[in-house]
Amino acid sequence: MVNTERDPFLVVLSGPGGVGKGTLAKELVERDEELILSQSWTTRPRRNDENPEAYKFVSHEEFLQHRENNGFIEWNEFLGEFYGTPVPDDSISQDILLEIDVAGGRQILEKHSETVLIFLDAPDVSEQRRRLVERGDDAIQIEQRIEEGDRERKDAESLGYFKVVNNDLNQAVEQIQEIIADKRSS
Ligand code: 5GP
Repeated sequence: MVNTERDPFLVVLSGPGGVGKGTLAKELVERDEELILSQSWTTRPRRNDENPEAYKFVSHEEFLQHRENNGFIEWNEFLGEFYGTPVPDDSISQDILLEIDVAGGRQILEKHSETVLIFLDAPDVSEQRRRLVERGDDAIQIEQRIEEGDRERKDAESLGYFKVVNNDLNQAVEQIQEIIADKRSS
């Protein structure tokens, strides 16, 4: 049953590249009808085999125009490309899942203190590197994403993110479902 009684909140899912955030986010919204996924905008080109719905892929001009019109609740530049969360529709009654970086999580928390912040981490760096190679990132990007991941891990800790390790998809989904359920019942 879809929520009609409580105020919806935002759930931010962050974590280093190659940790499996996309798959996990999809599972979470499939299993929970009170949770919907926000579609971010990005200027980054679509990767081979990437789902066309993973982002709204736009030009730099389109992104900057939308930003100018206050169309984003947060945005960030990551490895030279823009990423942003469009302002959610007022009519939405479900909780909204944002798959964004920690800098974006910080902006969201400043505006919406009720936000649930979750940092999904890889079991270890070698596993993260293996996943990045598998999805076809080039060598320089892999090292940049790993370094960025280290920075984000520290920032997430200081912002009070819940940390979940993605050893097993099902277990990670269940842990996050528990965190969300606790928030709903608080
Ligand atoms: P990727 O290029 O791997 O899809 O994403 C790079 C980083 O940007 C990831 O950490 C991802 O979570 C983050 N990201 C994706 N969408 C958004 C967004 O709308 N806002 C912010 N701040 N970060 C985003």
